[in-house]
Amino acid sequence: MNTQTRKVLVLGGGIAGLTAAWELSRQNVSVELVEKSCFLGGHSIGFTCKATDKCQQCGACSVEEMLKNAVNEPLINVHLRTEITQLKRSGQSDKSNRFTATLAKSEVEIPAGKTVKGFSRYNNPLYVVAKTSVSEISDTDSRDAKNCGCSCTKAASTGHAHSIDKMGTEGELDVDAVIVATGYSPFDPDRKSTYGYGKWKNVITGLDLENIIRENGALVRPSDSQKPQKVAFIQCVGSRDERLGNLWCSEVCCPYAMRMAGSVKNDNPDADITMFYIDIQNTGKEFPVFYEKIKQNIRFVRTIPVDLYPLDNDGLELRHMAEDEGSPSSEAFDLVVLSVGIMPGKDTGKISEITGISLNQDGFLDNTVSSLSAKSCSCGTSSQSGSSVAGCFVAGTAGGPASIAATIADAGKIAFEAMKYLGVMR
Ligand code: SF4
Ligand code: SF4
Repeated sequence: MNTQTRKVLVLGGGIAGLTAAWELSRQNVSVELVEKSCFLGGHSIGFTCKATDKCQQCGACSVEEMLKNAVNEPLINVHLRTEITQLKRSGQSDKSNRFTATLAKSEVEIPAGKTVKGFSRYNNPLYVVAKTSVSEISDTDSRDAKNCGCSCTKAASTGHAHSIDKMGTEGELDVDAVIVATGYSPFDPDRKSTYGYGKWKNVITGLDLENIIRENGALVRPSDSQKPQKVAFIQCVGSRDERLGNLWCSEVCCPYAMRMAGSVKNDNPDADITMFYIDIQNTGKEFPVFYEKIKQNIRFVRTIPVDLYPLDNDGLELRHMAEDEGSPSSEAFDLVVLSVGIMPGKDTGKISEITGISLNQDGFLDNTVSSLSAKSCSCGTSSQSGSSVAGCFVAGTAGGPASIAATIADAGKIAFEAMKYLGVMR
């Protein structure tokens, strides 16, 4: 069979979905790429470059590159603001190898007046929602209209606006396999109320920090737009927390915070940066050298802060019990950054029900069974709960925490598994 007659449904337009779609298209497999929100690139499209005197290997630039590849590839058909509501085996027989997916318009939640995503070297409207308008996406590049995600027929080069209201695909799609790349949700810092997120302006998350740097070109305090001199990073917020029932390590927040701290210090050498941690996650053979280097500029205190109190100057008093001090200490900071962990995506339970892919003990989709063995089907057929689903594969952080680089590698591997399943690769 001509491989182009093979079609794969990829759920999720973040870096995992984009990578899987791109790898499939390179082998002449058609892709229907379904993204619930109105832009592509997921969380990581908003990440800024962390380079100091040299590249810090954060992977953020690879997301834009992959996005550009995917939206310009004719074999990848993008459906923005669309979600899956049902997945069935097609045909008369339970042994059919095809699926019919039912798609519906999703409800996109965009807080009025807020920038959802706002930067791109390519100024690509697929993931830019302008600060001044949340109802329209201005089109400014020369892409073919096919992949714009709304139902208009005008060429993108005409500079017309794409209404979010018109976006979304409804109906049924027949496909040969499904890759689930629906990603993760960041931990909700409101659940750690003693840190006062949302109550005190200068308590932010790592994602807020990215937004601030992107919008201002440097790290400034939300309260007064001044560069903070004393900055605290609190690690493991929401992860490795028995009381929350989240026992896993999110794996990415240690190297992420260290890269970010190094970048802030590079921009403002006078900044005094402290990292409060439980353990430092070693992320590979380059890590020990990186860690030793960063320790020359960043103070590390092994403890998890108990709580934060506001000060008159919009600063924050941070109380902690340091391991080597034995008694409570407190210290004032200008800005506190919460390194929130990686949680299962909000829709993970629903996706599990629709596809039949089981959940692992932490609530992520079980990527081991679905991607590796794929023998039986729980998708409207006779398989048992917890079994793998033939023809359905899990890629990236939908299956658990992973860095951008690890997600790209995993999505490539999963695309390869899917192509083996389709007989495109052996
Ligand atoms: S990998 Fe990260 S630090 Fe390196 S150039 Fe790309 S965005 Fe910058
Ligand atoms: S990567 Fe570091 S900050 Fe993140 S959960 Fe693991 S130990 Fe904590």
